[in-house]
Amino acid sequence: MIDITQPIYVLTIAAFVIGLIRMGNPATARSGILWAGIAMAFSIGATFFVPGISNLILIFPAIIIGAAIGYVAARKVAIVNMPQMVAIYNGMGAGAASTIAAIELIRGNTSSFDTTIALAGAIIGNVSIAGSVIAFLKLQGWIRQRPITFSLQQVVNLITAAVGVFFGVVFLLHSNILIPYKSALVPFFVLTIGYGFMMALPIGGADMPVLISLYNAMTGIAVGLEGFAISNYAMVVAGILVGAAGTILTLAMATAMNRSVGAILAGGFGKAQVEDRTVSGNLKPISAEDVAVMLAYASTVAIAPGFGMASAQAQFKVRDLADMLIAREIKVFFAIHPVAGRMPGHMNVLLAEAGVPYDLLEDRDEANRAFQDVDISIVIGANDVVNPAARIQGTALYGMPILDVDKSKNVVVLKRGAGKGFAGIENDLFYMDKTKMLYGDAQDSISKIIQELKKL
Ligand code: NAP
Repeated sequence: MIDITQPIYVLTIAAFVIGLIRMGNPATARSGILWAGIAMAFSIGATFFVPGISNLILIFPAIIIGAAIGYVAARKVAIVNMPQMVAIYNGMGAGAASTIAAIELIRGNTSSFDTTIALAGAIIGNVSIAGSVIAFLKLQGWIRQRPITFSLQQVVNLITAAVGVFFGVVFLLHSNILIPYKSALVPFFVLTIGYGFMMALPIGGADMPVLISLYNAMTGIAVGLEGFAISNYAMVVAGILVGAAGTILTLAMATAMNRSVGAILAGGFGKAQVEDRTVSGNLKPISAEDVAVMLAYASTVAIAPGFGMASAQAQFKVRDLADMLIAREIKVFFAIHPVAGRMPGHMNVLLAEAGVPYDLLEDRDEANRAFQDVDISIVIGANDVVNPAARIQGTALYGMPILDVDKSKNVVVLKRGAGKGFAGIENDLFYMDKTKMLYGDAQDSISKIIQELKKL
């Protein structure tokens, strides 16, 4: 039988690359996802043409069950729960890479080089799957989001990782030190997976975006390495693409949150202090009617959306409000913080869904240059990303570059009550003299502002 898997893999790789390129622009991102899906279909399809393929009786049900679960989950998941879904799917990719490694290592008929590659992939995959599970549990609220710490944690983590790697080396060298070398795979897998769990536990919710994109990059690398180990070039290229894209995203997210990737890898992050500061001043409520009057007389309005806009599904009303203001010849822009919401690009996705033109979106640096000329900034369910406490040393948010909403002339904050942001700390912005609070669900509040604006 002629091996046609390689030509199919070439098509797979081409489709992955096209998908990735198209995902780079919000206007083509949707089709980019489709291309990536086509690439996955090609790569799975190629499996059936692998010479000497067996176990079809297991492969078919696995594909059907996996596809059915994936389809139902993707249709049902609320956009606010997307990060959990990304975390768990990422974990599955890492788990698949680790499983391939386990099978290859148990078979044991590989060269030392391939064994080293398989072991390296297994370590990365094991850490990534275990960490992704913790990220999922934290984001889902099934375990507490705050850092879970205990004394000598870093020492325990280091020893766990080192002993796990030691057993990997025992296996590689076929050394029967302590236990027969083949049995060394058991403590190797247990300890590296254990290290993955423990590495993620001390990391707090506010650091989650960096963690998830780091696992994403690690999964790509693990898949790429296992692709090498089993000479599957589609896996190698797909792994490299995910690893490279994930690494760039990790660096971008770390910069956005002022976290150093070096500190992350050393297990030094997630030590955000949970402080108990008292903020002076008081909260000043405002009515929708008064907000509408303020807006009617403004020349420039900035809209700073955050997680609350996603939670309230207020993006469509926000777009209506922006359209109304623009129709009144008021200059409007959206200030987008890279980690606003609960996943990278969360605000962009929602605003694109509502049809907000891309040229109204300003990234953080551009927005920060413009705030001083803004008459009113409307903060819609954002908290951490506009919290000036990030400029104060010793606070949990210290160092995270924020949207400088507090530099604008007036600020109106839409939120339901006294809820804190994701990092769980007070927001100085809300207590400033220039800030007014419009309480209520963001979608209701914007509807009311629109109604009042229509009367003016
Ligand atoms: P945030 O700090 O989570 O604050 C959201 C605010 O929205 C809360 O103060 C809440 O106050 C309000 N809110 C919730 N539901 C609302 C509703 N229906 N209507 C009106 N207001 C509502 O949000 P953020 O400023 O966007 O910051 C994002 C945070 O999440 C950052 O700390 C970031 O590091 C973290 N994070 C980001 C990602 C990512 O990739 N983007 C992933 C994971 C974590 P009330 O309860 O008083 O209404």
